[in-house]
Amino acid sequence: MKNAVSFNVDHLKLTRGIYLSKIDKLGDVETLTLDIRLRAPYKEEIITNKALHTFEHCFATAVRDISDGYNNAMISYFGPMGCQTGFYLVVNFKGYNEDEYFPFLAKLLKEALTYLRKMEEVPAKNENQCGYCYSLGEMADVLEVADDMEKLVDKMIQQGAFYTYIYL
Ligand SMILES: [Zn+2]
Repeated sequence: MKNAVSFNVDHLKLTRGIYLSKIDKLGDVETLTLDIRLRAPYKEEIITNKALHTFEHCFATAVRDISDGYNNAMISYFGPMGCQTGFYLVVNFKGYNEDEYFPFLAKLLKEALTYLRKMEEVPAKNENQCGYCYSLGEMADVLEVADDMEKLVDKMIQQGAFYTYIYL
């Protein structure tokens, strides 16, 4: 069986960062996967399930809401890594040049974080809309994760590029 791309990354050398881990092409649509790594594996405590789950609800809503009016770019997925060290963001693009991805995604992440901070309650916190809403916290529980992500986004913007993976 062919390994998943992410299994070829040396997780012992990983630092916090926002990594462009994959570009998939199907027809004229390109799908970018960002690994938003908020904890250095084996060096830092993992994110609690409460913070992870709550942030998933808030950021997934924020990033979809703000990208609603965008042309030819669509959020496909935002969700937590099973190892609780970060999140995946998957975005579909049509008709974009390679050099347009970075500024687009940097702006998207910044705007989504700003939007998230203005939310007053955790979206979809009920049995109808979530598989286990009892593990969800309050808005206060996501602010630290939001701060951690924002620091990485700012650093990424400063360096003008995504973080770079070290492969096994
Ligand atoms: Zn949920």
